[in-house]
Amino acid sequence: MLFKEIIGQGEVKDKLLKLVRDDRTPHALMLFGPEGTGKLALAVAMAQYLACNDRQEHDSCGSCPSCVKFGKLVHPDLHFMVPVVKTGSKTSPPVSDDYAEAWRETLLTGFYLTENQWYESIGAENKQGIINVKESETIIRKLGFKPYESDYRMVVIWLPEKMNQPAANKLLKLIEEPPGKTLILMVSEHTDKILATILSRTQLLHVPPLTEVEIREGLMSQEADQQVVEDAVLRANGSFSLALQTLRQDEIELQHFELFTEMMRLSYARDILQLNTWVERVAGMGRERQKQLMDYSLRLLRENFVLHLENETLNYMSVKESEFSRKFSPFIHEGNVHDLSEAFTLAGNHIEANGNPRIILMDLSIKVIRLLMQKAPATG
Ligand SMILES: [Zn+2]
Repeated sequence: MLFKEIIGQGEVKDKLLKLVRDDRTPHALMLFGPEGTGKLALAVAMAQYLACNDRQEHDSCGSCPSCVKFGKLVHPDLHFMVPVVKTGSKTSPPVSDDYAEAWRETLLTGFYLTENQWYESIGAENKQGIINVKESETIIRKLGFKPYESDYRMVVIWLPEKMNQPAANKLLKLIEEPPGKTLILMVSEHTDKILATILSRTQLLHVPPLTEVEIREGLMSQEADQQVVEDAVLRANGSFSLALQTLRQDEIELQHFELFTEMMRLSYARDILQLNTWVERVAGMGRERQKQLMDYSLRLLRENFVLHLENETLNYMSVKESEFSRKFSPFIHEGNVHDLSEAFTLAGNHIEANGNPRIILMDLSIKVIRLLMQKAPATG
C-alpha cells in the first residue's frame, strides 16, 4: 500500500512519514477514529515505508523487493492480528493465522474493509469476533524472532478493542517491554474499550472522517452513474466504506429499476419473444437477486398505485423512478393492483422455495400481460 493510493488524510500521512524520516518511529502506534476513513491502509502504508529499501520523501518506492512483497501482503516481517470467529470445522480457539489466506485476499480486494464485511467474508456474519490470548501468545512468539528481511518486525493489530482481558494483558506486557526494532501498529474504532494502560504507552494519532470532496474523488475510479455517485457522497458521512456500500446498493437498485421497467414495457407490448429473453437474463442472476427484484417490483407497483390515486409523486422514489411512474401509473389501478401484487409475491415465494426460475418468471410475465390489459374501473 502506497500513501498516494490512500484517499485524503494528508495530515496523518505527513505525520507518519515524518516519524520514519526523523527516525522517531515509536514501538507502539495507534491510528484511531471512525470506520471507513482509511486507517488500515495507512497502517500498512506506514509499515511498507519503514521497510522500503529505497524510501522517497513522500512515499515508498513501490518497486524494491520489500515493496513488491508488501504489494502482495506477503512480507515475512509483516504480521496481522485481527478478530476472528470460530467457523465450520475449525478447532477452537481460532487465531488470525487460521484465516491468513482469507484475510490477505479480502484486504487485497479493498482496504476500506468494515468489521462486518470481514466476518461475512469468512462466513461468520452476525457473529462477534474476538482476539483471544492464544493470538497474543502467537504474536509474542513471532516478534521474538529476528526480522527476516527488514530492520523491523511489524505487527498490525486491527481492532484491538476486540481483545479479551487475558489477550490485552499479554499485549500490555509486550508494549511495556518491547523487543528492539519492533513496530506495533494498532487500528482502532473504539479506544474507550481499550485498557488505559495500553493507551498510555502508545502514541495516538487521530484519523478524521473524510470530506465530501475527498470521497467524491475516491469514487471517481468506480465508473458509476453520476447521480449514484452523488447520492453515495451525501450519505457517506465521512466514511469511504459506507460510500462504497451505498454505491453498490444504488447500482443494484438501478439495475432492478431497469429490469422492472423493461418487463412492464414488454408486457404492455405483449412482446413474448423479448420477454423470453428477459426471463433468460433474470434467470441467470441468482436466487437472492431474483428475490430482491420481486421485492423491488412490489414496492414500485405500490408507489404507482398511490400515484394513480393521489396524482402526486411521493418522496420515496428516485428521479428516474418518478419520471417512469408519471407515465406508468395510469395503468396501475383498483382493478389490477391486487392481482399484480399477489403475482409478484407468489413469484418471490416460489423463487425462495427453490422453484425453477424460468417457469416462475415466464408464468409471472403472462399474468402481467393479462393484468395490464385490464381497464381501470369507471369512477363516480
Ligand atoms: Zn520500496
